[in-house]
Amino acid sequence: MGLLTEGTLLSWQETKQWADYVKRHGVQQFIKLFNKQRDRVNDVFIWGDETEYAIIKFEHDKKMARVSLRSEEVLDHMNMLENLGKLSSLWHPELGAYMVEAMPSKPYSGLIHELNMVETNMRTRLGCDDFMDPATNSLHENNTNSLVFLDETIIHKHPKFGAITRNIRNRRRKKVIINVPIYKDQKTLTPHENLQDEKSERVVKNHIYMDNTIFGTGCCSLQVTLQASNIQEAKILHDHLAVLSPIMMALSASSPAYRGYLSDRDCRWSVIVNSLDDRTDEERGIKPRYSSVNSYLSSEGEILNDVEVVFDRRVYKELRDAGVDHLLSQHVAHLFIREPLFLFSENIHPKSEDDIFHYENIHSTNWQTVRLKVPSEGSSGWRVEFRPMEVQFTDFENAAYAVFIVLLTRVILSLNMDLLIPISKVDENYEEAEKRDAVRSGTFWFKTNIKKSKKAKDKTCCSDEWSYAKMTMNEIINGKDNLFPGLIPLIRRFLRRAAVEVDTLRTLQKYLELLQHRASGKLLTTAQWIREYILDHPDYRQDSVVTERINYDLLCTADRIQRGELKSPRLLGSF
Ligand code: ADP
Ligand code: MG
Ligand code: MG
Ligand code: MG
Repeated sequence: MGLLTEGTLLSWQETKQWADYVKRHGVQQFIKLFNKQRDRVNDVFIWGDETEYAIIKFEHDKKMARVSLRSEEVLDHMNMLENLGKLSSLWHPELGAYMVEAMPSKPYSGLIHELNMVETNMRTRLGCDDFMDPATNSLHENNTNSLVFLDETIIHKHPKFGAITRNIRNRRRKKVIINVPIYKDQKTLTPHENLQDEKSERVVKNHIYMDNTIFGTGCCSLQVTLQASNIQEAKILHDHLAVLSPIMMALSASSPAYRGYLSDRDCRWSVIVNSLDDRTDEERGIKPRYSSVNSYLSSEGEILNDVEVVFDRRVYKELRDAGVDHLLSQHVAHLFIREPLFLFSENIHPKSEDDIFHYENIHSTNWQTVRLKVPSEGSSGWRVEFRPMEVQFTDFENAAYAVFIVLLTRVILSLNMDLLIPISKVDENYEEAEKRDAVRSGTFWFKTNIKKSKKAKDKTCCSDEWSYAKMTMNEIINGKDNLFPGLIPLIRRFLRRAAVEVDTLRTLQKYLELLQHRASGKLLTTAQWIREYILDHPDYRQDSVVTERINYDLLCTADRIQRGELKSPRLLGSF
């Protein structure tokens, strides 16, 4: 979860007093950096994944599996190994005290044979289980307290994480409220129907009620950061990845159950959006902090920006006056409608000319599905981060999804493809993507004519309507006769032209096959597999309840699949 510094945390009242200062300086920091880096060119393509893991403690004698709040110990251990030079990965904390995030020790290069190293790198990250001792704390239900599921021990001890969760509550002046539709089975009842929280916000009928940020941020994600050659390429990647976000969210769906109940959603989308929602009641009209991309940033995309963007006019003017183009100014001025959610006293006054702490503070707490990352002096160029994917059980699957995104961006850039559709249609795709079984039964707006129009001016939002249509996941990924070639056939064509050595090609073919079969419905997504496992479990009583025992068996099975001890043809086919 982005920016991490140590220091003396300010209270919410103090942080609020510095909010304007942080925003003013944050904008100035961006302008200074932009003017230094705007003409930066020829950065090579490098990339890396961030994979989040949950630490689970199995108590086999009691047939229980719970999250283990030991990420600090795990990280200490990993950092010690890292310092000894024994690791090929880097480890970071995440908001949940049971979560850890890992990435390769350095980014992968653009050489295609390095795609063959991703899964191995992921595999060597874990497999070090001598620190998985029993943990004592776990998230508990407190039925007598109006804060029903609030237990701070679940939040990682780094002061930033506690501050984010607390200050979201402080800012909106009440706790977060998450109601996700429950999966309606024959005997399903609304859990806690009679419960009423301190602000009289009733639990919504037929929904699973949650009131802690961890319920959303605690679902692990798989992210990919890619370096662009220059700012123009970064904007093109940003825009295309914005279109691909809901599609890849649905294809990587892995979150069908919450708080012991089966939900009617396959993805964590609305849960995480609400879990980080710091808006007051009066601010409901603006987008939440965790959200889809507001607008395209490339000039090609401008005409398709048909959703109103709320932005800070003063910040926008300041950016325009400093020579920042309209779309980027609007984007940054949108980020700066937010206040800082945390602040350390040591960071208030910039330490150097190049300090971008205040910019990063605001940027890193705007959780959009794609981020434009600014260059850092020397080392990193303009980058984009693709953030909507949900984590999978196995390294094989995680590598497959990450590599798919890398290959697809190479195809988009090399064929000069245009996948942009009106951004309102991308937003509609999110609603479809999170639904139960969206991969098999959903339809998504997608571009049919992938050729870039030569004269961008000729096309208008409406005249272009003929070139996008509603397609199934199968059609988008595998193609539809005479309408759309399909993303995987396009990647295959690209690979045939690139001289890929046989070993790497074999690996890439397996990755593509996995996604191809998931999209066609021949293989299950992780969410579908978990749902089927629960529904088929002998203890399941057609009431949408995931009992302790079902949970234990499910996680044991997932663990065995992950270790390669158990084949799962429904999930992984013959891989
Ligand atoms: P954040 O949490 O801010 O998104 P992380 O530091 O956790 O970022 O992860 C960054 C990812 O980007 C890692 O996979 C890393 O290998 C990769 N990476 C680092 N530098 C670059 C770069 N210059 N270009 C592309 N990817 C990079
Ligand atoms: Mg993370
Ligand atoms: Mg990270
Ligand atoms: Mg990240």
